[in-house]
Amino acid sequence: MAFELPKLPFAHDALVPVISQETIEYHYGKHHQAYVTNLNGLIPGTEFEKADIETMIRKADGPIFNNAAQVWNHTFYFEAFAKSGRSVPIGPLADEINKSFGSFESFRDQFSKAALTLFGSGWAWLVKKEDQSLQIVQESNAGNPLRKGLTPVLTCDVWEHAYYIDYRNRRADYIKAFLEIIDWDVVARRFI
Ligand code: MN
Repeated sequence: MAFELPKLPFAHDALVPVISQETIEYHYGKHHQAYVTNLNGLIPGTEFEKADIETMIRKADGPIFNNAAQVWNHTFYFEAFAKSGRSVPIGPLADEINKSFGSFESFRDQFSKAALTLFGSGWAWLVKKEDQSLQIVQESNAGNPLRKGLTPVLTCDVWEHAYYIDYRNRRADYIKAFLEIIDWDVVARRFI
């Protein structure tokens, strides 16, 4: 069964001016699509031919891991955006953010720093540990915390293709704007 590029939950121009339609057309329409196409070309005849993407992330190496993880990571990244979503967390997620990081402001600072200081291409993640506490982790390239037994809750793509059209080399400006279009209701559903 071939994997398909998932539909975005918003129009391609919905995130303007934070993320332009041109960035969506390249990042989603070209890069995300390429990972899906690559994965479909890689798995026939391998032990992963009938596996789900999470299994490939946990067990595959090399090109199958890279493309499976990039498919999953991008779907997860795009799903958290909304034109007018909940701008701050509430409920159990808000409580755990306060407990793990001190405050929402402190979480934002720590998450932004992780995204900014990640050297090269990769992803900054907010993850839930087995004890329900939250942690911020950096992963290079296609890295995904599922491989370490952690539950992803939020991710920021800091590959240059995610921001170079709109922000050029200003990764810090992209990260600041990224946090403004997160729908915290989506993030909360992942935490429960
Ligand atoms: Mn990307």
